[in-house]
Amino acid sequence: MTTRVTDAVAAAWRDLVDTARRSVTDGLVVGTSGNVSVRAGEDLILVTPSGVPYERLAPDDVTGVDRTGRQVLGHLVPTSELPTHLAVYEDTDAQAVVHTHAVHATAVSTLVDRLPLVHYMAAALGGQVRTAAYATYGTRELADNVRRALRDRTGCLLQNHGTLTYGATLAQAYDRTAQLEWMCQVWLAASGVPGLTPSLLTEAQVDTVADRLRNYGQPG
Ligand code: 13P
Ligand code: ZN
Repeated sequence: MTTRVTDAVAAAWRDLVDTARRSVTDGLVVGTSGNVSVRAGEDLILVTPSGVPYERLAPDDVTGVDRTGRQVLGHLVPTSELPTHLAVYEDTDAQAVVHTHAVHATAVSTLVDRLPLVHYMAAALGGQVRTAAYATYGTRELADNVRRALRDRTGCLLQNHGTLTYGATLAQAYDRTAQLEWMCQVWLAASGVPGLTPSLLTEAQVDTVADRLRNYGQPG
């Protein structure tokens, strides 16, 4: 069966390109570092192509793979981090995945194997965020390390590399990256004050927030 670019697929591609461009304008990504993917059907995942500046991506550049990674849409080479994106879809209920080289998160990934509980928004990522052990970009080894770091979490740091988050929508996956980057910035700011050590929350305090966040904002 050939895969067609239906109106829904075209809309998902627009959404993906908008999200990728936003990661650059918000300063979470420089150049063509980072990548984004979104599920657009039972066996269709749209992904950013490898090494193509996001502002150049056009409606005709729709790039899609099936769950095994076989390319079923487009002619541009899919992101080199495809093994990691596919692993996240296999292991979780993710509908979208965002990977960046956000500066504060990348800095923190070189310092600790988990982000200290400096803020309750850790709850938005399922609890204390772990750092996936370093492996060369684009490898299965990196995918396996990310898999482990994501257990019961919706995001992780990648040692000496960046961030990865997922969500039920592109907007949610993106927001989790932004929150993670912000928390890393807070921790760096607080832990860098000479002679003082930041207070940290307990896991129980963060769990309490996780319950509360389920009803955060407007009803419905
Ligand atoms: P791609 O351009 O292949 O998506 O790679 C960027 C990246 O961040 C690799 O880790
Ligand atoms: Zn990367």
